[in-house]
Amino acid sequence: MTTTSKLYRIAVYGGDGIGADVTREALRLLNAVAQRHAFQLVLTELDWGIDHYRRTGVVVPENFLEILRPHDAILLGAVGWPAELPDHATLAPLVRIRQAFDQYACVRPAWLLPGVPCVLTGKSAGDIDLVVIRENSEGEYVDQGGWLHRGTDREVAIQTAVHSRRGVARILRYAFELARKRKQKLTMATKSNAQRYAYVLWDNLLDEIAPEYPDVASERQHCDALLMNLVRWPERFDVIVASNLFGDLLTDLAGQLAGGLGLAPSTNTNPERNFPSMFEPVHGSAPDIAGKGIANPTAAILSAAMMLEHLGEVAAARMIEQSIASTLAAGHRTRDLGGTLSTIEFTDRVLEHL
Ligand code: ATP
Repeated sequence: MTTTSKLYRIAVYGGDGIGADVTREALRLLNAVAQRHAFQLVLTELDWGIDHYRRTGVVVPENFLEILRPHDAILLGAVGWPAELPDHATLAPLVRIRQAFDQYACVRPAWLLPGVPCVLTGKSAGDIDLVVIRENSEGEYVDQGGWLHRGTDREVAIQTAVHSRRGVARILRYAFELARKRKQKLTMATKSNAQRYAYVLWDNLLDEIAPEYPDVASERQHCDALLMNLVRWPERFDVIVASNLFGDLLTDLAGQLAGGLGLAPSTNTNPERNFPSMFEPVHGSAPDIAGKGIANPTAAILSAAMMLEHLGEVAAARMIEQSIASTLAAGHRTRDLGGTLSTIEFTDRVLEHL
């Protein structure tokens, strides 16, 4: 008798600096849970990034999108090596991946785990358990605008934001669906008191779509108040949905509340699954600690768990999350959290807690 197991094709783009190191640790966890949950991962390991640039003069090959396309998911470490190449050159392929694969939902959970110090006094594990959904394809970051009277005293910079009915409606529905699966509460960031076109469209669409989800309590808050309330009462939030710019601000704040960069996972999701989605830690390549073996691999490991959840391997994803939670609760920490463990030693502890 033959046994069949599910098989997932994963493109692994470790990238630069600590990106490659933390991705290696995430793969150790993925391989361990794949064995236990009877699925297989077929990995395409991509040597793209600054080393590729040194060898060939380009960070990624010309046909990089075609190489990525047949995969079920992309696991990314981090890119960037500003000492040799400006960030826009290393980041350009990521922007093209997000656009070409219509990864319009950037999902960033902020989950304060046991044993993790919080910048807010009086908060403990469980008090912060929220997800920020950032619109990832349009809004304030469409790169449209221009200059008038450039270089003169009358110089004017115009930066255009584009919010489409289709773009806003699809991210709101994605956020409502997630809230329905979590604590049935959705908060939308707006600023319609000052921006009378863009955020009036957001407000109107929230009013239009909310009746489709009668089981979810939805509200809107002006982004300035929302940022303040997130610091005052993080426990009141479940799912927060925001435009590209507001999402950028909210995710950084929420990530810090939950313990900082070493712990924060993220996704660039194509919810329709027409194309591969991409999973990556929020942090960058951290050149200051690259090669020292001290990076915290938690954000990369939790990103890998989010990838498994997206692929439908929910039990395996929960297993990784729980082992991270119990490892931190037992007091095992890397240096960014005040501990002494190296990147590899910390992952060893996580594997023991599986
Ligand atoms: P980018 O612009 O790509 O986000 P950056 O330099 O602004 O890059 P990071 O590379 O994320 O930001 O690093 C910011 C700081 O956080 C650095 O001091 C870095 O050492 C630290 N840091 C980032 N990720 C980790 C990690 N996984 N473990 C420990 N420290 C980290």
